[in-house]
Amino acid sequence: MKRIAENTINRLIVYKKELERLRKDDVRNVFSHKLAFLSGFPSHLVRRDLMNVGYNGSPAHGYDVVELEKCIADFLCTPGSVRVILIGVGNLGRAILDYCQQQNHKISMVAAFDSDKNKVNKVYHGIYTFHIDSIKNFIKENDIKVAIITVPASDAQEIASALVESGVRGIVNFTPARLQLNEEVYIENLDMMLGLEKVVYFVDGG
Ligand code: NAD
Repeated sequence: MKRIAENTINRLIVYKKELERLRKDDVRNVFSHKLAFLSGFPSHLVRRDLMNVGYNGSPAHGYDVVELEKCIADFLCTPGSVRVILIGVGNLGRAILDYCQQQNHKISMVAAFDSDKNKVNKVYHGIYTFHIDSIKNFIKENDIKVAIITVPASDAQEIASALVESGVRGIVNFTPARLQLNEEVYIENLDMMLGLEKVVYFVDGG
Protein backbone atom coordinates (compact mmCIF):
# COMPACT_ATOMS: atom_id res chain seq x y z
CA MET A 1 0.00 0.00 0.00
CA LYS A 2 1.40 3.41 -0.89
CA ARG A 3 2.22 5.83 1.92
CA ILE A 4 -0.48 8.48 2.36
CA ALA A 5 0.00 11.89 4.03
CA GLU A 6 -1.25 12.23 7.60
CA ASN A 7 -3.68 15.02 6.64
CA THR A 8 -5.25 12.77 4.02
CA ILE A 9 -5.75 10.05 6.63
CA ASN A 10 -7.39 12.63 8.94
CA ARG A 11 -9.79 13.62 6.14
CA LEU A 12 -10.59 10.00 5.23
CA ILE A 13 -11.58 9.35 8.84
CA VAL A 14 -13.97 12.33 8.69
CA TYR A 15 -15.48 11.16 5.35
CA LYS A 16 -16.02 7.70 6.82
CA LYS A 17 -17.88 9.17 9.78
CA GLU A 18 -20.10 11.29 7.49
CA LEU A 19 -20.78 8.32 5.20
CA GLU A 20 -21.76 6.26 8.25
CA ARG A 21 -24.27 8.99 9.17
CA LEU A 22 -25.66 9.06 5.62
CA ARG A 23 -25.98 5.26 5.56
CA LYS A 24 -27.87 5.31 8.85
CA ASP A 25 -30.22 7.93 7.31
CA ASP A 26 -30.77 5.53 4.36
CA VAL A 27 -29.07 7.85 1.89
CA ARG A 28 -27.80 5.70 -1.01
CA ASN A 29 -25.69 8.10 -3.08
CA VAL A 30 -23.72 11.24 -2.41
CA PHE A 31 -21.92 13.66 -4.72
CA SER A 32 -18.43 14.91 -3.92
CA HIS A 33 -19.63 18.49 -3.31
CA LYS A 34 -22.18 17.23 -0.72
CA LEU A 35 -19.56 15.09 1.03
CA ALA A 36 -17.23 18.10 0.91
CA PHE A 37 -19.91 20.28 2.52
CA LEU A 38 -20.63 17.71 5.25
CA SER A 39 -16.99 17.11 6.08
CA GLY A 40 -15.85 20.72 5.76
CA PHE A 41 -13.16 20.16 3.11
CA PRO A 42 -12.98 21.51 -0.48
CA SER A 43 -14.54 19.33 -3.20
CA HIS A 44 -11.32 18.97 -5.18
CA LEU A 45 -9.57 17.53 -2.09
CA VAL A 46 -12.43 15.10 -1.48
CA ARG A 47 -12.24 13.84 -5.09
CA ARG A 48 -8.44 13.51 -4.92
CA ASP A 49 -8.56 11.67 -1.57
CA LEU A 50 -11.17 9.22 -2.83
CA MET A 51 -9.13 8.52 -5.94
CA ASN A 52 -6.23 7.75 -3.59
CA VAL A 53 -8.27 4.99 -1.95
CA GLY A 54 -9.17 3.68 -5.41
CA TYR A 55 -12.84 4.68 -5.52
CA ASN A 56 -14.49 6.44 -8.46
CA GLY A 57 -18.03 7.72 -8.36
CA SER A 58 -20.44 7.85 -11.25
CA PRO A 59 -20.99 11.29 -12.85
CA ALA A 60 -24.73 10.65 -12.86
CA HIS A 61 -25.22 9.27 -9.33
CA GLY A 62 -22.16 10.33 -7.36
CA TYR A 63 -20.65 7.89 -4.88
CA ASP A 64 -22.43 4.81 -3.56
CA VAL A 65 -22.53 5.52 0.20
CA VAL A 66 -22.24 1.91 1.42
CA GLU A 67 -19.50 0.96 -1.05
CA LEU A 68 -17.48 4.09 -0.40
CA GLU A 69 -17.70 3.71 3.38
CA LYS A 70 -16.50 0.11 3.07
CA CYS A 71 -13.74 1.10 0.67
CA ILE A 72 -12.41 3.75 3.09
CA ALA A 73 -12.77 1.40 6.08
CA ASP A 74 -10.81 -1.30 4.23
CA PHE A 75 -8.17 1.24 3.31
CA LEU A 76 -7.80 2.54 6.88
CA CYS A 77 -7.85 -0.83 8.64
CA THR A 78 -6.32 -4.19 7.96
CA PRO A 79 -8.90 -6.91 7.28
CA GLY A 80 -10.44 -8.20 10.51
CA SER A 81 -10.30 -6.09 13.58
CA VAL A 82 -7.43 -4.19 15.15
CA ARG A 83 -6.99 -4.95 18.84
CA VAL A 84 -6.24 -2.08 21.17
CA ILE A 85 -5.37 -1.90 24.88
CA LEU A 86 -5.68 0.97 27.35
CA ILE A 87 -3.38 1.70 30.28
CA GLY A 88 -4.76 3.74 33.20
CA VAL A 89 -8.35 3.01 34.16
CA GLY A 90 -8.96 6.36 35.87
CA ASN A 91 -11.53 9.02 35.05
CA LEU A 92 -10.37 9.57 31.48
CA GLY A 93 -9.52 5.93 30.83
CA ARG A 94 -12.97 4.73 31.88
CA ALA A 95 -14.65 7.41 29.74
CA ILE A 96 -12.65 6.19 26.74
CA LEU A 97 -13.55 2.56 27.44
CA ASP A 98 -17.21 3.58 27.56
CA TYR A 99 -16.93 5.54 24.31
CA CYS A 100 -15.13 2.71 22.52
CA GLN A 101 -17.88 0.28 23.48
CA GLN A 102 -20.44 2.50 21.78
CA GLN A 103 -18.57 2.53 18.49
CA ASN A 104 -19.21 0.02 15.76
CA HIS A 105 -16.13 -0.37 13.67
CA LYS A 106 -13.09 -2.50 13.21
CA ILE A 107 -11.17 -1.25 16.22
CA SER A 108 -11.81 -3.38 19.26
CA MET A 109 -10.70 -2.61 22.78
CA VAL A 110 -9.56 -5.93 24.20
CA ALA A 111 -8.07 -5.19 27.64
CA ALA A 112 -7.21 -2.50 30.15
CA PHE A 113 -4.33 -2.29 32.63
CA ASP A 114 -3.82 -0.46 35.90
CA SER A 115 -1.47 -0.52 38.87
CA ASP A 116 -4.19 0.07 41.48
CA LYS A 117 -5.17 -3.24 43.07
CA ASN A 118 -8.68 -1.92 43.64
CA LYS A 119 -9.20 -1.58 39.88
CA VAL A 120 -7.51 -4.78 38.78
CA ASN A 121 -9.61 -7.90 37.97
CA LYS A 122 -12.66 -5.73 37.39
CA VAL A 123 -14.67 -5.11 34.26
CA TYR A 124 -15.24 -1.50 33.18
CA HIS A 125 -17.65 -0.94 30.28
CA GLY A 126 -17.23 -4.54 29.20
CA ILE A 127 -13.41 -4.50 29.34
CA TYR A 128 -11.42 -6.58 31.81
CA THR A 129 -8.66 -4.79 33.76
CA PHE A 130 -5.39 -6.63 34.33
CA HIS A 131 -2.51 -5.67 36.60
CA ILE A 132 0.13 -3.62 34.81
CA ASP A 133 2.74 -6.28 35.64
CA SER A 134 1.15 -8.64 33.11
CA ILE A 135 1.17 -6.16 30.23
CA LYS A 136 4.33 -7.33 28.45
CA ASN A 137 3.16 -10.94 28.25
CA PHE A 138 -0.31 -9.87 27.18
CA ILE A 139 1.03 -7.75 24.32
CA LYS A 140 3.29 -10.53 23.07
CA GLU A 141 0.71 -13.29 23.38
CA ASN A 142 -2.03 -11.27 21.72
CA ASP A 143 0.12 -9.48 19.15
CA ILE A 144 -1.08 -6.04 20.25
CA LYS A 145 0.21 -3.19 18.09
CA VAL A 146 -1.81 -0.21 19.35
CA ALA A 147 -2.26 1.21 22.86
CA ILE A 148 -3.88 4.17 24.57
CA ILE A 149 -2.11 5.75 27.57
CA THR A 150 -4.19 7.50 30.24
CA VAL A 151 -1.90 7.27 33.28
CA PRO A 152 -0.44 10.24 35.18
CA ALA A 153 2.19 12.08 33.10
CA SER A 154 4.93 11.00 35.51
CA ASP A 155 4.39 7.31 34.57
CA ALA A 156 3.80 7.75 30.85
CA GLN A 157 7.36 7.37 29.56
CA GLU A 158 8.04 4.19 31.51
CA ILE A 159 4.77 2.67 30.32
CA ALA A 160 5.37 3.74 26.72
CA SER A 161 8.87 2.25 26.67
CA ALA A 162 7.55 -1.05 28.03
CA LEU A 163 4.81 -1.08 25.39
CA VAL A 164 7.25 -0.55 22.55
CA GLU A 165 9.70 -3.12 23.94
CA SER A 166 6.86 -5.67 23.84
CA GLY A 167 5.80 -4.93 20.26
CA VAL A 168 3.42 -1.95 20.28
CA ARG A 169 3.92 0.27 17.20
CA GLY A 170 1.30 2.99 17.69
CA ILE A 171 0.34 4.96 20.79
CA VAL A 172 -2.45 7.41 21.50
CA ASN A 173 -1.03 9.50 24.32
CA PHE A 174 -3.58 11.46 26.35
CA THR A 175 -1.04 12.53 28.96
CA PRO A 176 0.82 15.86 28.85
CA ALA A 177 4.17 13.96 28.77
CA ARG A 178 6.17 14.22 25.52
CA LEU A 179 7.19 10.62 24.87
CA GLN A 180 10.69 9.79 23.68
CA LEU A 181 10.45 6.67 21.54
CA ASN A 182 12.14 5.38 18.43
CA GLU A 183 11.01 6.97 15.18
CA GLU A 184 9.21 3.88 13.94
CA VAL A 185 6.57 4.25 16.64
CA TYR A 186 3.62 6.40 15.60
CA ILE A 187 2.52 8.66 18.47
CA GLU A 188 -0.69 10.68 18.46
CA ASN A 189 -0.77 13.23 21.30
CA LEU A 190 -4.32 14.27 22.14
CA ASP A 191 -5.10 17.19 24.43
CA MET A 192 -8.56 18.72 24.59
CA MET A 193 -7.14 21.84 26.29
CA LEU A 194 -5.29 22.71 23.08
CA GLY A 195 -8.59 22.64 21.20
CA LEU A 196 -10.27 24.65 23.92
CA GLU A 197 -7.52 27.28 23.93
CA LYS A 198 -7.84 27.61 20.15
CA VAL A 199 -11.60 28.11 20.37
CA VAL A 200 -11.17 30.65 23.20
CA TYR A 201 -8.63 32.55 21.08
CA PHE A 202 -11.01 32.83 18.12
CA VAL A 203 -14.03 33.62 20.30
CA ASP A 204 -11.99 36.42 21.85
CA GLY A 205 -11.51 37.80 18.33
CA GLY A 206 -7.82 36.97 18.16
P1 NAD B 1 -6.77 9.37 37.15
O1 NAD B 1 -5.88 9.60 38.32
O2 NAD B 1 -8.24 9.34 37.37
O3 NAD B 1 -6.37 8.00 36.42
C1 NAD B 1 -5.05 7.55 36.26
C2 NAD B 1 -5.07 6.03 36.34
O4 NAD B 1 -3.76 5.55 36.01
C3 NAD B 1 -5.42 5.49 37.71
O5 NAD B 1 -6.41 4.48 37.61
C4 NAD B 1 -4.10 4.95 38.26
O6 NAD B 1 -4.29 3.86 39.14
C5 NAD B 1 -3.44 4.52 36.94
N1 NAD B 1 -1.98 4.43 37.04
C6 NAD B 1 -1.12 5.26 37.67
N2 NAD B 1 0.14 4.84 37.49
C7 NAD B 1 0.07 3.74 36.72
C8 NAD B 1 1.04 2.84 36.18
N3 NAD B 1 2.35 3.01 36.38
N4 NAD B 1 0.60 1.79 35.45
C9 NAD B 1 -0.72 1.60 35.23
N5 NAD B 1 -1.69 2.39 35.72
C10 NAD B 1 -1.30 3.46 36.44
O7 NAD B 1 -6.39 10.47 36.08
P2 NAD B 1 -7.25 11.01 34.83
O8 NAD B 1 -7.98 12.20 35.21
O9 NAD B 1 -7.99 9.85 34.22
O10 NAD B 1 -6.09 11.46 33.84
C11 NAD B 1 -5.23 10.49 33.27
C12 NAD B 1 -4.21 11.16 32.37
O11 NAD B 1 -4.88 11.81 31.30
C13 NAD B 1 -3.38 12.25 33.06
O12 NAD B 1 -2.08 12.21 32.52
C14 NAD B 1 -4.08 13.55 32.66
O13 NAD B 1 -3.21 14.65 32.66
C15 NAD B 1 -4.54 13.20 31.27
N6 NAD B 1 -5.72 13.90 30.78
C16 NAD B 1 -5.70 14.28 29.49
C17 NAD B 1 -6.80 14.89 28.93
C18 NAD B 1 -6.69 15.24 27.47
O14 NAD B 1 -7.51 15.94 26.93
N7 NAD B 1 -5.69 14.75 26.79
C19 NAD B 1 -7.93 15.14 29.68
C20 NAD B 1 -7.95 14.72 31.00
C21 NAD B 1 -6.83 14.09 31.54
